[in-house]
Amino acid sequence: MFVSDGLGDRPSARLDRRTPLQAASTPNLDEIARESMIGSLYPVAPGVTPGSDTAHLSLFGLDPYVYYKGRGPFEAVGAGLDLSEGDVAFRGNFATVDDNVKVVDRRAGRSLPEARQLADYLAANLKVDGAHVLLKSTTEHRFALVIRGTGLDASVSDTDPHRAGERLAVCKPTSQTEAAVRTAQLVNQVTQRAHELLSSHPLNSERIQKGLPPANSILLRGAGKYTRLPGFGSLYGLRAAAVTGTAMVRGVCCMVGMDSPRVPGVTGDKNTDITAKASAALSLLIEHDFVFVHFKATDSAGHDRDPEGKVEMVEKLDELVGRVLDGLRGDEVVCVTGDHSTPVDIGEHTADPVPLLVHAQDVYGDGERFTEAGSAFGRLGRLNGSQLMPVLMNQANRIRKFGE
Ligand code: ZN
Ligand code: ZN
Repeated sequence: MFVSDGLGDRPSARLDRRTPLQAASTPNLDEIARESMIGSLYPVAPGVTPGSDTAHLSLFGLDPYVYYKGRGPFEAVGAGLDLSEGDVAFRGNFATVDDNVKVVDRRAGRSLPEARQLADYLAANLKVDGAHVLLKSTTEHRFALVIRGTGLDASVSDTDPHRAGERLAVCKPTSQTEAAVRTAQLVNQVTQRAHELLSSHPLNSERIQKGLPPANSILLRGAGKYTRLPGFGSLYGLRAAAVTGTAMVRGVCCMVGMDSPRVPGVTGDKNTDITAKASAALSLLIEHDFVFVHFKATDSAGHDRDPEGKVEMVEKLDELVGRVLDGLRGDEVVCVTGDHSTPVDIGEHTADPVPLLVHAQDVYGDGERFTEAGSAFGRLGRLNGSQLMPVLMNQANRIRKFGE
């Protein structure tokens, strides 16, 4: 299963009223589309704009309205932290604040080569009363933070004001339970203590000397309480694995029981090494029944409102798909889709359906090209994300009969 993040789009005037999929040269996707069942997919449901987390849960067959408990735990599991039932996890940024804790830069200059060292320093030194704090760097200025203790609740607000120029927000309980009140207090203590530790860190003094914004504060968002999810083994009887360079998506994959090894060169950005990605996917197929391959850069180009960039990333996706297809035996079921649309003229996720392609050796093809327009007329029609795995399981002849 290939999922290209934010793949779907709308016709853009900057691409002569074509979508990036239409404007790109995609020989491998075109070839497989001609021999595939085509359709389109509402990742969650019509009119629902999914985040990547809820979308992936849905594509894997888990109802996000039941199983989604906030983004933090996915980020933390994806970062490699070992979570326990009841932990409350956050996504975090290193940021720059002034003397009045007004946020000057939400990303501490964005280029923060010191991020890993600062994260390790906080992980070792950040202590609060009555709870443990775990912290791990992910990509660039980002990290995951976990508060572990008894009686915690993730119903708390973000400390991230989500825009520069505003003061660091005070964490508040969003439900009036004792646990939420206590958790909010802990978050504020953690934030205060992190600010003290970071402000006096020598790496930040060096940054100031170089004229760079110091990473002197942390911003937390996306609180979620960790609970175990049903896995691919119990849901489908499949040994599953994933190849992704995106911590949050790796977290979803780990939490549904996929082996998600870190692959050198697989970065989750536009420079991701597709040769490494394809060979990792093929070697995982030897020991697994199901391999998920995630490609992030299409979403990033959508957020950057960069049509040419998205066309280029669609072409890179095409190459990735081609390399994997070249190494298959031929009797596998192959699916290509997106987790949502991120149109280049919008710069954000939308609820539009995404194109879907399902190939198996015994299907006849109804595709021309793999595009938003082409997929509207395919035999698969329009599915919701939660219907995808059953369709794939049927093509793999792995479904038990319903009734006699
Ligand atoms: Zn996404
Ligand atoms: Zn996105």
